[in-house]
Amino acid sequence: MSCYELYALKFAGPFSSSGAFMMWMKEWETVALRNYYFWCLKSPERTVLVDAGVSPLLARQRNLPGYLSPADMLKGLEVRAEAVSQVILTHLHWDHVDGASLFPHAEFFVQRSERDFWLGDDLARRPPFTFFLNDQTRAVCRSIEESGRLTMIDGERETMPGITCLPAPGHSVGHQAVVADTSRGRAILGSDCAHLFRNYEENWPSALIIDMVAWVRSLKTLKQRVSAPDLLFPGHDPLMSERYPEVAPGITRLA
Ligand SMILES: [Zn+2]
Repeated sequence: MSCYELYALKFAGPFSSSGAFMMWMKEWETVALRNYYFWCLKSPERTVLVDAGVSPLLARQRNLPGYLSPADMLKGLEVRAEAVSQVILTHLHWDHVDGASLFPHAEFFVQRSERDFWLGDDLARRPPFTFFLNDQTRAVCRSIEESGRLTMIDGERETMPGITCLPAPGHSVGHQAVVADTSRGRAILGSDCAHLFRNYEENWPSALIIDMVAWVRSLKTLKQRVSAPDLLFPGHDPLMSERYPEVAPGITRLA
């Protein structure tokens, strides 16, 4: 059995917003912080990334505070970006996919429904969807597809030994979570199914949900499938940097 170490890599942040951004329709008067992450799964046999972060170009354009290139960050885990061979994309929002060009030899995995919406549906080019993916980052997605390195998945699939892509729609049309075998049991990187641990703990979404019915079902599925509640990880919670041992600057070991 393949068993993975899980790392969270914080490539930007902190950002602040009204608490209502992180807890839907509540906590308007509070301030909530969020970081931007991608993740690395390591076993003796292989290294797999979950999401690709943001490129230096877009980070400059958006003026992202605390930004470090995902390619540079990986050096802290002794991983070279050019050597990365597999990246699972949880969804095609800018903060999760724009850095794909940093991994020129990687194969990328995405749910077909997610690919078809963002790259195949004209609706995706209209507001408010342009908030999540602009033409520049869409071109990044197209270029990996045209180079034959974008693999579409239909539903649940074990993409590598001990790593399963699990549909978890709601935040986006074809959002997926990543289930990984670890020494503590089955962990789930839920990405933006939840922005904070609190979304899972309180069964309450962030403001960024496009299909609430699908989201509630996804939440139920992830909680059923994970081995323990503390092995279910959100997409943007600063606690991922604070509550876990730091193994290199900006990199914490989650499991
Ligand atoms: Zn996100």
